[in-house]
Amino acid sequence: MSKIRDPTDRQLEDYKKTITSLDILRTGNGTPVDDHTNTLQAGERGPLLLQDHTFLDEITHFDRERIPERVVHAKGGGAFGYFEVTHDISKYCKANIFSSIGKQTPVAVRFSTVGGESGSADTVRDPRGFAIKFYTEDGVWDLVGNNTPIFFIKDPMLFPSFIHTQKRNPVTHLKDANMFWDFLTLRPESIHQVIILFSDRGIPDGYRHMNGYGSHTFKMVNSSNKAVYVKFHFKTDQGIKNLDVKKARNLAADDPDYSNRDLYNAIANGNYPTWTLYIQVMTFEEVASCSFNPFDITKVWSHAEYPLIQVGKLVLNRNPTNYFADIEQIAFSPAHLIPGIEPSPDKLLQGRLFSYSDTHRHRLGTNYLQLPVNCPYRSKVTNYQRDGPQAYNNQGSAPNYYPNSFSGPENQSHLKLSTFSVSGDVNRYDWSSDNYSQAGILYKKVMSNDEQNRLAENLADSIKCAADFLQEKAIYHFTKVNKELGEKLQTKLEEAKYAKANL
Ligand code: NDP
Repeated sequence: MSKIRDPTDRQLEDYKKTITSLDILRTGNGTPVDDHTNTLQAGERGPLLLQDHTFLDEITHFDRERIPERVVHAKGGGAFGYFEVTHDISKYCKANIFSSIGKQTPVAVRFSTVGGESGSADTVRDPRGFAIKFYTEDGVWDLVGNNTPIFFIKDPMLFPSFIHTQKRNPVTHLKDANMFWDFLTLRPESIHQVIILFSDRGIPDGYRHMNGYGSHTFKMVNSSNKAVYVKFHFKTDQGIKNLDVKKARNLAADDPDYSNRDLYNAIANGNYPTWTLYIQVMTFEEVASCSFNPFDITKVWSHAEYPLIQVGKLVLNRNPTNYFADIEQIAFSPAHLIPGIEPSPDKLLQGRLFSYSDTHRHRLGTNYLQLPVNCPYRSKVTNYQRDGPQAYNNQGSAPNYYPNSFSGPENQSHLKLSTFSVSGDVNRYDWSSDNYSQAGILYKKVMSNDEQNRLAENLADSIKCAADFLQEKAIYHFTKVNKELGEKLQTKLEEAKYAKANL
């Protein structure tokens, strides 16, 4: 592929221009290296010596270069910037980050695909991760969302199975249409998200031209400790832009790192991407009378009933200086909340509150929050946690137990969480509900005729690889979304069968 050289191609040349005198090459323990080319040998044709620390230092570190890949969202890119408040929402939220118009808070953002490995192509049909780390004075707040306002499932019990069906068949090590469509047609709560996935927005044109959503319902608490429920929407100021299927396939071959390249170059060229943050608000009284479960992540809150309220702007203006340190090691957790923002009873969120921090402890280690990109550098970590692998901030000579009489860190009792009532018996509750209405509205009222046709085409293109009984089940579910969509899908699947038979 011929292309004009851009900032990503010139990265090393740009680095070289910043160097005025060469550093001394040193081992990991800081001693100067005499020769990085030739290993130490016993005689010119003799074996290598175990005393060659320069070589052993190099090779043993190399042997350990890889850390476990993220199980999901393994392929990604990111950048740094800031969030600026443009509108006052203090009547809903006391969080420091929203305290005054014009206030800026540093952020790190990681975008990703979901199902593929870290070397996989960027231009696949897949949701995109949209995770934001706000470095606030009250600690780090992570909003760990996607480019979709909803999700496939609503109960975290199903998450490992769901992800297995989006990844590789354990025997063939290939993506498997039977696994994929079997799960989705057995769990029809996924159909709403499947329609988004197979619509034009299923393959965004890079990361700059898509919206981001907190997806879950969260709670905002104001300075009088009054709480409301909220949804977060980051709308792209670049405008929505998607890739058509053919271009996406070509790019997967020619430039599989298309989205990362696009983001890096835009920022390097001073073309900083921005998003406008809106919230939707639902009061506790509105929750009580809501016609659906507002904590069900497979449902949106209608804009007409819960209008978007503008809050601020997200700006990305700095590329990572080191991909591994800044992006591979960045670790988001929905449990990282700040005073004024609390979880809702959304079941999937409740499962994620535990799971994300758990996975980082496995992937990066107990002290992952001490890594520069993760540490809450605008507040000070003072607590009673100590030691563990790679403890860097081990809190000096302060006492390591609580309570104590020796001036250790104290509770901030004025920061108590908001209170709310719960009732009912302990049970495994099934949140099954209407799976088709909102999906039907998206198809009928939001999509143009051309988009509807492409949706049917894209669905058929995937479903045709699944077993006949799964194709029939898929037609059944999409007919329930919209009769015309079911018919279009059926026609396209019949055409695909006919074409195959006449090959
Ligand atoms: P509105 O008519 O007020 O808004 C429709 C929404 O759909 C807009 O947010 C638009 O995003 C988004 N949209 C357009 N095309 C697609 C697509 N292919 N995939 C995903 N989203 C798309 O709608 P309502 O609030 O009454 O909701 C109608 C339907 O729209 C819902 O049933 C849901 O399926 C979908 N939707 C609703 C959202 C919500 O929070 N209410 C959010 C996203 C989708 P944009 O403005 O950026 O173009």
